[in-house]
Amino acid sequence: PTTPAAPGEASAILHESLRIDGNEIACERRIEVRHPYTGKVVATIPKASVEQVRQAFSTAAAYRSRLTRHDRYRILMRAGELIAARRESFARLITLESGLCLKDSMYETGRASDVLLFAANQALIDDGQIFSCDLTAHGKSRKVYTLKEPLLGVISAITPFNHPLNQVIHKVAPAIATNNRIVLKPSEKTPLCAFALADVLYEAGLPPQMLSVVTGDPSEIADELLTNQHIDLVTFTGGVAIGKYIAAKAVYKRQILELGGNDPLIVMEDADVEEAATLAASGSYKNSGQRCTAIKRMLVHEHVADRFVELLVKKTKALRYGDPFDADVDMGTVIDEAAASRFESVVDQAIAAGARLLVGNRRQGASYSPTVLDRVTPEMTVVREETFGPVSPVIRISGIDEAIRIANGTAYGLSSSVCTNRLDYITRFITELNVGSVNVREVPGYRLELTPFGGIKDSGLGYKEGVLEAMKSFTNTKTYSLPW
Ligand code: NAD
Repeated sequence: PTTPAAPGEASAILHESLRIDGNEIACERRIEVRHPYTGKVVATIPKASVEQVRQAFSTAAAYRSRLTRHDRYRILMRAGELIAARRESFARLITLESGLCLKDSMYETGRASDVLLFAANQALIDDGQIFSCDLTAHGKSRKVYTLKEPLLGVISAITPFNHPLNQVIHKVAPAIATNNRIVLKPSEKTPLCAFALADVLYEAGLPPQMLSVVTGDPSEIADELLTNQHIDLVTFTGGVAIGKYIAAKAVYKRQILELGGNDPLIVMEDADVEEAATLAASGSYKNSGQRCTAIKRMLVHEHVADRFVELLVKKTKALRYGDPFDADVDMGTVIDEAAASRFESVVDQAIAAGARLLVGNRRQGASYSPTVLDRVTPEMTVVREETFGPVSPVIRISGIDEAIRIANGTAYGLSSSVCTNRLDYITRFITELNVGSVNVREVPGYRLELTPFGGIKDSGLGYKEGVLEAMKSFTNTKTYSLPW
């Protein structure tokens, strides 16, 4: 992408077109994209019609990719190189549309290159299995082979605002690696990276029929993205409410739903409290707290809680927040003023119900300061529901039974973090926490872009993402057998 100039300058306003079947299609109807820090319009994007969305699916369905594994490898590697070479401008684009600070945006571009690297390498690996058939008394002298084929129909991908580049690439790269065709609808709050990524992939040699990008008003086009006859699979990352709507609407389509989280950091009495507080601050404030795996609750043993809270407050006060384009800032804004106001209101409610505000809860527009709340109880909305922002609520606990009960006590089950060195605790956490991941002495969000990732309960149906698992979901397994 071209490097965005100062946000909001008329000359700097980007005007995007749909990408359908290799064509840039202009649309009269537009949606405005605003830079959260200034509130100024920085881009306009197309408000596609249902007819245009149908066209994207039918042209994708009519295309069959003939790319070899080597072709796919080269395209994905080249795209990764292009993003790495243009890292700065991609980072500025992320910051422009999301208000995430440049430090977060630069980190995200690095992750995007990793996704492409893993998908490229995975495309080279034969994923077939072989079964000999003479394994039992009624066996035969044959072999059964498995083959992974791309879907017959098209993948429909819908992504959230919080990682404008990474959320999109986690769907697009595995789709390319498996030779599928994909129609992507990014969040209308942060759509710009999706267009820029598509252009990089075309430049790297991707047949444009394999990836279309549409944007629009979900109340008009979402149902088409879920029910179009050419769709075989819907892959969605976003909130629980829309995820459950999709589950009911996209009938007889394969569904990959990566939904919200309410991840705990659990700090036991033997923990290295300094380390735990460092993890707490980074897990709670990175990406302005807007990660599905951000630390959203801190369950801290009462023997170490005073020291933990003292260190966390110190680290929170040391954090610089403000103008996301300031390279020294550690935290930018949240996505918009409405979101910031919501955090303010749930924190106010918690304070009214007896929680103690130790630092933060200051809002200006879409800027919301990093906030520490002590003496929170599990029934308070700030921890019962997902607070998708930079809030650190501390719940004091008396032991492991209570930690596990409270950790499992919400509707979510995405990831978790436990700070302890006791093996008896660790084994209990791993077996008894009802989540998709348990990270010992690491933030809940820790993973490789390759490794399986995803939640259970309201966080998802248990089908994972991560390059490897997404590639499995995006294929059909065919078996064939030969005399042997
Ligand atoms: P959201 O659910 O509001 O929107 C997600 C996407 O759904 C957007 O592209 C939106 O346009 C689209 N959409 C809106 N109405 C739709 C409809 N009726 N049918 C289909 N799609 C529709 O989510 P958000 O606010 O953009 O993102 C934040 C949420 O995403 C948080 O809850 C967060 O925890 C979750 N999230 C989950 C993961 C994960 O991997 N589990 C990762 C990141 C974010």
